[in-house]
Amino acid sequence: MHSKWASKMKGVVDGHVHMGGIAGEADMLAIRETAGISKMNLVAIQNPQTGDGLPEPLYMKARHPGTFYVFAGLNHAERISGGRVKTASLAAQVESFVRMGCDGIKMIEGKPTARQIMNVPVTDAYFADYWARVEELGIPIVWHVNDPEEFWDPAKIPGWAKERDWGYGPQDAQKEQLYAEVDAVLRRHPGLKTIFAHFYFLSADLPRATRFLEEHPNVGLDLAPGVEMLYNISRNPEAGREFFIKYADRIVFGTDLFSTLKLGEARFRAGIIFRWLESGDTFRVPDGADFLLGPPEDGIIRGMSLPDDVLSRIYRENFTRIAGSAPKPLNFGAVIEECGKLAAVANAFSGKPAGETEAGRVAKALAGE
Ligand SMILES: [Zn+2]
Repeated sequence: MHSKWASKMKGVVDGHVHMGGIAGEADMLAIRETAGISKMNLVAIQNPQTGDGLPEPLYMKARHPGTFYVFAGLNHAERISGGRVKTASLAAQVESFVRMGCDGIKMIEGKPTARQIMNVPVTDAYFADYWARVEELGIPIVWHVNDPEEFWDPAKIPGWAKERDWGYGPQDAQKEQLYAEVDAVLRRHPGLKTIFAHFYFLSADLPRATRFLEEHPNVGLDLAPGVEMLYNISRNPEAGREFFIKYADRIVFGTDLFSTLKLGEARFRAGIIFRWLESGDTFRVPDGADFLLGPPEDGIIRGMSLPDDVLSRIYRENFTRIAGSAPKPLNFGAVIEECGKLAAVANAFSGKPAGETEAGRVAKALAGE
């Protein structure tokens, strides 16, 4: 009945969205429209082998100025290839993100699957200059660290996660170790403006989330599901409401919408978060929601009826305070140059012809405009 739940608020900024191939441009625009979202932050994890990940969001920003923010992910080709493929240092990559007109940085270093690919802790010397430069420049970060704790427990891991190989064992990076590494980075660089994705996977432990926010005044949490976040907080919606009101300046709306979703799925995904924040309803994930939200049987969501001033901070003001009231203008020349480099890196890494990478395609499309 409420499957088409929409926000009552105008001007919603979504801090956590994924863009697939540039062929999905129209799909992404339709998703934004149907979900009732004003501006989107495209978080751009790079795949150095294929040249995917960053060029497509840059393309969207180029084509639709004022609508899309881009938080750029790092390229670790040199480290992963053992030095065979050459890339700029991480600090130099940050400089080039700024030159291009990116709005921030997306990190996934700290998700256990990222550690399977490159087992370098964020406290390693490899990251030292990078952290210093990011802190100095005041660039915001959206950072995915960890995963829901069920992912380490074969008996509890949800089917949708298991199918993605998001099940971890003793050989993987462990949850507490990953948190400890983040704490060490934040102690060394207290000025870092970091929004931790997916509520930092602390939704089952609000007292711990409270301690974390109190210890690190420049960090925030985003609301991109992890659907377990909605279930966990719904166990005690009063405590949830209190937390959200107390930390209204530290919570950023996000959906994890992605451009390959069907329109109905996109509405459901954004709708459950709107309804959870705005209504006092008790409800479930609707039938027909996307695979990563799991089936309706998985849990009950209880709305928090948050006040409008809290909603407007979560929906817009907290994000724009750190990333700017509008997306930065793009430097086309710098983007074309960078995409050319990313295409060359992918080619050197995997042998994929540069012209067949998204990086190569975006460089060409933008040069032709
Ligand atoms: Zn995401």
